[in-house]
Amino acid sequence: MEGNCLFCKIIAGEIPADKLYEDEEVIAFRDIAPQAPVHFLVIPKKHIQGPAAVAREDEELIGRLMRIGAKIAAQEGLSHYRVVFNNGEQAGQSVFHIHMHILGGRSMNWPPG
Ligand code: 5GP
Ligand code: ZN
Repeated sequence: MEGNCLFCKIIAGEIPADKLYEDEEVIAFRDIAPQAPVHFLVIPKKHIQGPAAVAREDEELIGRLMRIGAKIAAQEGLSHYRVVFNNGEQAGQSVFHIHMHILGGRSMNWPPG
């Protein structure tokens, strides 16, 4: 667990979350402030700051986020959805533990704002 990281605390069970999936390496839970009818986060248990901090040794782990996220999306009844990783504050990153957003259940605009 990394210091004061909110998502490390969720992983440790210190902060409750509405979990959709968990294994030894990955956890998925609903976003506390959903921006779409379905909005959940898929994160590695390993503390990685964000997309720019992904190392070669993390490639398989980050790939797993995608596969697990797609499975959960299907379970949630989504076939159209947006997948987002924010890197850095100006891009909208507010929690500095890498997380993949999946949003669906409404139509999406492109480009994003
Ligand atoms: P970011 O803005 O860093 O890309 O995404 C962080 C996300 O985490 C936001 O969508 C925010 O609503 C969500 N979030 C922040 N705190 C909590 C929390 O305590 N629990 C849950 N489930 N989501 C959170
Ligand atoms: Zn963390």
